[in-house]
Order: sequence, then structure tokens, then C-alpha cells
Amino acid sequence: MKKFLSLLMAMAMVACLFAACGETEVTPETTVDEATETVTFTMGTNAEFAPFEYVENNEIVGYDIDMAQEIAKDMGAELVIENMDFDGLVTAVSTGKIDAAIAGMSVTEERKESVDFSKPYYTAAQVIIVNADSETVATAADLEGKVVAVQEGTTGDIYVTENCNAAEVSRYKKAVNALMDLESGKVDAVVLDEEPAKNYSAQFAGLVILDEALTAEEYAIAVAKGNADLLDAINATIDRMTEEGKFDELKEKYGLNAPAEEAEEVVAEEVVEEAAETEAE
Ligand code: GLN
Repeated sequence: MKKFLSLLMAMAMVACLFAACGETEVTPETTVDEATETVTFTMGTNAEFAPFEYVENNEIVGYDIDMAQEIAKDMGAELVIENMDFDGLVTAVSTGKIDAAIAGMSVTEERKESVDFSKPYYTAAQVIIVNADSETVATAADLEGKVVAVQEGTTGDIYVTENCNAAEVSRYKKAVNALMDLESGKVDAVVLDEEPAKNYSAQFAGLVILDEALTAEEYAIAVAKGNADLLDAINATIDRMTEEGKFDELKEKYGLNAPAEEAEEVVAEEVVEEAAETEAE
């Protein structure tokens, strides 16, 4: 039977009341120290998003998983990974099915209405992938009137749906399937996060990524609204990892570039403003 951190925290608080320990602050770390090794930290993800989360030798691995292991370690908890569709993650967090969504998830105002986000841990961008011999799509403006494929429920989906005036937005559960349909000419372009775009399009001979980035986004970890203890614990690990240079190590391990500076130059203004607001919070 899975014990969730929230349950543990509640139990610890009750224990605290019985022990009449009054003002003593109950943090996930202290809670877990008093508990047993059966404590779990359950993250939800969509392991179709290399190099952040993907399946290798029947195991879910990646940048986000390494980060989640650090968070679990700091809490004295065991990491449990639930693999699901990306567009189910926010609901899974807000209903308590999982403790946190760790899935290269970009901070958006709309998601903030349903979940709380940690500090950002990665700066990302949406990019356009086309067939190398495509003469129809060379810039973002060319997406107008085209069939554009995206991963369902992602910021790529939102961006294309709201900004591009596409003839059709074709939604996929797996980015790889979108790329297959691009290769076979069923769709004119795919819009995807930059690093997964590089990873997956490399598996298809004729596909190229356009230089122009569409957005600037920040990946963060989503937890249930109001779960401040868990959020504090997650942020403490993110701070530690930043101080210790762990994110630089992970970037090197997974072949990630430095934050896409070029993205800032071409990105839609409102997206930059939103990212800046998030940063300022
Ligand atoms: N960063 C994108 C988003 O948050 C895509 C994430 C993903 O597909 N895992 O919507």
C-alpha cells in the first residue's frame, strides 16, 4: 500500500499534537526522519519526452528523473514513477493521484489555476520541425493555413491553436507519432519543445528544425494547490542542486544546450512578459 507524503505529514501533525510539541515546525524532512523507509514520493510523468523522461531498457530515465531522485533522497523517501498521458498530469496532481508532476511541464497562467509550481529549473522553447525539402514552411508565419501537428495539451498545442491560424491542428499523444506523420507528408509541420525536438527528429532522416523559436518557457514541478510543505521541500532541493552545480552536470549528461538565448529575440512578446512575471515572483 502506498503511503503518500501528505498522509504522512498529517500523521506527523497528529503525533505532534499528542506529544504536545506546540510550535515545532513539521517539514517533510523531519516527518520522514521519524517515519520508516516505506515513505514514497510519487511523481507522474509522460516518458515520451527525451532527454527529460524516456524509456531505456524498460526503465524510465532522464533529466527529470535524476532531479526527482535528488528530491526523494532529500526527503528520505522512495521515488515512485507513474507514467501517463501528458494531458492527464494536472488532474492527477490536483486529485492527489500523484504527489507531483515532473514532466518538462511549462509554467502557464492556466495551469496555475489548478496546481502550484516549484521554482523553475529549466528554460525551454517551442520550435517548428519540417521536412528538409519543405518549400511551404520556412518561418512561423508560414504555419498559417497549414496542417500543424502538436502533442495534445502541451504549450505547443496551446501556442499553435491560439496564434498560428493553422488550417488544422492535429493532436497526438506521442510526439514520435506526429513526426512519423510529418515524414510521410500527412502534416506540414510539427511544433514541439526544443530538446525533445532535437532528440526525436534525429531519428528521422529528412526532418529539420527551423531556427526561429516560438516561445520562451520555464519548466517547473507541479504539486497540488496549497501543498506548501511539499513545495518547500522541492524548492529546497532545487536550490541545493543549483548551488552544487547539479543542473549543469545534468545538462552535460543529457546533452542539453545552455538556455536558448536566441529564443528571447524572436519570441512572442506576451510569452516573454509571462515568463518574466514568473521569474519575478
Ligand atoms: N513543455 C510542454 C508543456 O508543458 C511539453 C511537456 C511535455 O510534453 N512533456 O506543455
